[in-house]
Amino acid sequence: MSELSTPTIGVLALQGDVREHLKALADAGAQARPVRRPEELAEVDGLVIPGGESTTMSKLAIVFGMLEPLRAFVAAGRPVYGTCAGMIMVADKLLDAREDQETFGGVDMIVRRNAFGRQNESFEAAIDVAGIPGGPVEGVFIRAPWVESVGAAVEVLATYDGHTVAVRQGNVLATSFHPELTGDHRVHGLFVEMVRSAAR
Ligand code: GLN
Repeated sequence: MSELSTPTIGVLALQGDVREHLKALADAGAQARPVRRPEELAEVDGLVIPGGESTTMSKLAIVFGMLEPLRAFVAAGRPVYGTCAGMIMVADKLLDAREDQETFGGVDMIVRRNAFGRQNESFEAAIDVAGIPGGPVEGVFIRAPWVESVGAAVEVLATYDGHTVAVRQGNVLATSFHPELTGDHRVHGLFVEMVRSAAR
């Protein structure tokens, strides 16, 4: 655990765009470090689950003995932010996923993988995110999931084309898109603030 002003935030480094998140978190005022093992998870105030490939991430979490520690981390109310594949990993339920795909859970929502369709695999769009002042963020969507439905405890923070693309439930934040790829670190700033509040 760390001084509140500079919380220590891990980036789950089993697979995915880890380096970009480490940089975005550092720019947003955190001490950022990769997390691969349960001992490393125990040392961080919050955790980012990056974009990548959620089926692979699920398999590697099992191989590295991280599935149960990560489920416990989320269940204990520790702050977690999932982007894209990371959003899939914090969903309680999935659509269009392999039968054996596991998630860490934490958000009472159903997430559809690769939801925006093949013809529209990658795109960018201006997204207004509740709680982020200063105008829309640039949403980078890469074979992105959307949120099909949410439970009562889930706050919808952003939609695109009628689909939910950013949510928060308690200390868990998730976006379909990738703010770590844009140089605009306001969403990471929101998460750093969530981690500071949770540590208080
Ligand atoms: N389609 C990927 C998955 O299901 C997510 C893509 C991403 O993270 N950019 O894991």
